Amino acid sequence: MVREPVFLSHGASREHETGAHPEHAARIEAIESLLGERHWCGYQTVTSPAASRAELELVHTPAHIDRIAAAASAGGGQLDPDTVLSAGSFQAALHASGGAIELVRRLVAGGPGQVGFSAHRPPGHHATANRAMGFCLFNNVAVAARYALEKLGLRRVLVLDWDVHHGNGTSEIFWDTDAVLLISIHQMPLYPGSGATYELGSGRGYGYNVNLPVPAGAGDDTFVSLVRDVAVPIARAYRPELVLVSAGYDAHAEDPLADCRVSDTGFGAMAALVRDLGHELAVPVGCVLEGGYAVDALARSVVLTMETLAAQPAAPDALVAALAVDPLALEAQERLAELWPAVAGGVREP
Ligand SMILES: [Zn+2]
Repeated sequence: MVREPVFLSHGASREHETGAHPEHAARIEAIESLLGERHWCGYQTVTSPAASRAELELVHTPAHIDRIAAAASAGGGQLDPDTVLSAGSFQAALHASGGAIELVRRLVAGGPGQVGFSAHRPPGHHATANRAMGFCLFNNVAVAARYALEKLGLRRVLVLDWDVHHGNGTSEIFWDTDAVLLISIHQMPLYPGSGATYELGSGRGYGYNVNLPVPAGAGDDTFVSLVRDVAVPIARAYRPELVLVSAGYDAHAEDPLADCRVSDTGFGAMAALVRDLGHELAVPVGCVLEGGYAVDALARSVVLTMETLAAQPAAPDALVAALAVDPLALEAQERLAELWPAVAGGVREP
């Protein structure tokens, strides 16, 4: 039986008011408007529940949750130079995390072949257990991954973060565990400044925090090759039971906040690679929206990601098939070969 892909959203995402700020409600409106024109790409639309306090506490400290709730009920304000709250922000953040959790519930219930996309604001991957930062209040993907481990009994979750910024919050939250493998591709140097290659995790988590920094100007060749030639071989060896993508679109060439050059097609190629990985490993695949501030490019790339995820694997994606192994991917393979022998030598399985 072919299961319907799921798209999770909630109107509360529009009530997180940020004023003159790149992370604004038009991002979600553009995505939903283009999706509407495309008949939601065949996705079943689901209204996201709010995360419960207990669910947030799978990752966040009670003090952090209280601070966000109190700031919103006081009418909002500025938490740091980048991170703004309004009266509606707490509810928006609850549904953003609740959407990611509901995505994971549905992915796991659907099993192999199930795909989905959770599109909310605010984004999440910079939020740490105890701190909001970088437009993020609660770490949606981390809450969802922890939910999968603790409530659904999964043992291994892969989080691939292709947002152009390093997902420092996700990295810190899963720093010392091997139950979540985080692979992050990000521009460096760039906000938040972390994400160097030597940041590998610690204790049981050593080697399960893989950073693939790229320089300004990196485009499809680099991003797609890093996914195909580094992230996918490592993921095969890890054998996750669930694949989540921290899906930011600010590596897009049109994005105003960073200097990478990924095209719509590049995002489609990365989506094809994670879809095919899910099929190969017989596990579900879901995306949780992070950044992406060129509104039209964001909407197009999200829609292409969703179309690609929902399509059956056929011939390899044209870009994926044509691409040489990028020099940065070769370098990463050499660097990571001791920890992850599967990447050694640039050998790819057919
Ligand atoms: Zn970002």
